[in-house]
Amino acid sequence: MKKIIANFKMNKTPSQIKQYLIDLMARYKDGDKVELGLSIPYPSLPIAKFLIGERKIKLGAQNLSDEEVGKNTGEVSGEMLKDVGVNYVIIGHSERRKKFKEDNKTINNKIKMALKNGLEIILCVGESLSEYNTLKTKDVLTEQLESAFKGLYENELENITVAYEPIWAIGTGKTPSAREIEKASKVIRSVIKEDFSAKASENLQILYGGSINAKNISQFKNLKYSNGFLVGGACLDLAEFLQIINVFI
Ligand code: PEP
Repeated sequence: MKKIIANFKMNKTPSQIKQYLIDLMARYKDGDKVELGLSIPYPSLPIAKFLIGERKIKLGAQNLSDEEVGKNTGEVSGEMLKDVGVNYVIIGHSERRKKFKEDNKTINNKIKMALKNGLEIILCVGESLSEYNTLKTKDVLTEQLESAFKGLYENELENITVAYEPIWAIGTGKTPSAREIEKASKVIRSVIKEDFSAKASENLQILYGGSINAKNISQFKNLKYSNGFLVGGACLDLAEFLQIINVFI
């Protein structure tokens, strides 16, 4: 089964999401080849939960607070997301790391908060262009993963999917080669093996994200070491997103 996770980022109003979901429901059938997740903006979560109903589509948020409750104007807690019916949350997206200055410690706290509230996690990791050019990908991934997973128990990893998202590939139309993605996935699994166990490493779900679209998906569809894709820009057009999903059905 392939995991296909859409990241709408800050796109589409609740009315637009409503229409998108009505159309998606009519054109996509649940099955056992694809696990579909939709990470949508906060204001659309309740209408999305209502429209998804009993369908096997997972509902995701794109962020959560690293604190529990109280004096955090503008923030949204894990408890609130759980209460609205969210299944998983994206943590550590490079846009949040860079623009909102989320460091590895904050990301570790957010992971703990999500786990405490029974939310699954899509943890994003990935190197910048200069780190890629100076062959630092392995070091960057190792540091991001070790700090993100600090203090976690092995069984908690069952609720975490790691998305390898090279920053230079996000929204740029550029992608690493299939070989480079496999290499990064191997690094991710070896860190988990070292810090937890061989079993945890084998069981870890890994996605690739960065400029996946309907034109290039077929060149990545047979990746051996990863379990699916995180799709940003290309999920916004339903026809294109369905083309991506249909490659796996
Ligand atoms: C993302 O932002 O997680 C992403 C994968 O974006 P895009 O597909 O647009 O590169």
